[in-house]
Amino acid sequence: KNARTPLMAGNWKMNLNHQEALVLVQKLAVTLADKKHDYSKAEVVVLPPFTDLRSVQTLVDGDRLQIRYGAQDVSTHDSGAYTGEISAAMLAKLGCSYVVVGHSERREYHAETDAVVNAKAHKALAAGMVPIVCVGEGLGVRQAGEHVPHCLAQVDGSLEGFTAEQVAGLVVAYEPVWAIGTGEVATPEDAQEVCAAIRARIREVHGDGAADAVRVLYGGSVKAGNVGGIMVQPDVDGCLVGGASLQVDEFGGICRYY
Ligand code: PEP
Repeated sequence: KNARTPLMAGNWKMNLNHQEALVLVQKLAVTLADKKHDYSKAEVVVLPPFTDLRSVQTLVDGDRLQIRYGAQDVSTHDSGAYTGEISAAMLAKLGCSYVVVGHSERREYHAETDAVVNAKAHKALAAGMVPIVCVGEGLGVRQAGEHVPHCLAQVDGSLEGFTAEQVAGLVVAYEPVWAIGTGEVATPEDAQEVCAAIRARIREVHGDGAADAVRVLYGGSVKAGNVGGIMVQPDVDGCLVGGASLQVDEFGGICRYY
């Protein structure tokens, strides 16, 4: 675990216009520069809507901020007649380091399958960005006790065709759907159980190098007040944060996590 740089990624979802984005990133930068606390442990990433990326790029580049950013989705296509889509090359050109693929809201509202998620992850990686591949079970699956096999099937399908070297550089986010935006955080033990199972599966398929390097995040109602217990788990390498990433004090607390 110590060899993996913790990652705290804030998924803004469909919130904040480009001006509001500038305000939030500026406030976040001030928070992270506050010497009263140690913010050096985690890599800090924001994931704004597409329309905010240019503003965030200008601010981050101009002030040389230690904040990385990425997008919440990417097209499976390279270019052409796909109205409304955004390509990986467009995102890379805007300086994105990361792209979320397979968020449960995309899987649910846009019927994204593991095959689609896999295609998006390949496009992101080919354009030089790191895919944050999301998996996670709904409440029914959890209640049936099928959460581990469910998530591992999503991992298998979403990571198909990647080499061990590629998997080593990926981020996988375990986000139980019942914990997203509900205020109902998984227990640290729940998070550890599935994150450990994901790493074990990657070890089985891709070997020690990939398993020891891949970063596995937990996501679902993470707040400054509950992040500590989650981050001490040996297989949790960071958090994907929705609601709390829009509040600088909360997200700042998450980024220092103790
Ligand atoms: C998310 O959308 O990735 C998420 C984890 O949301 P929240 O933190 O609001 O539960």
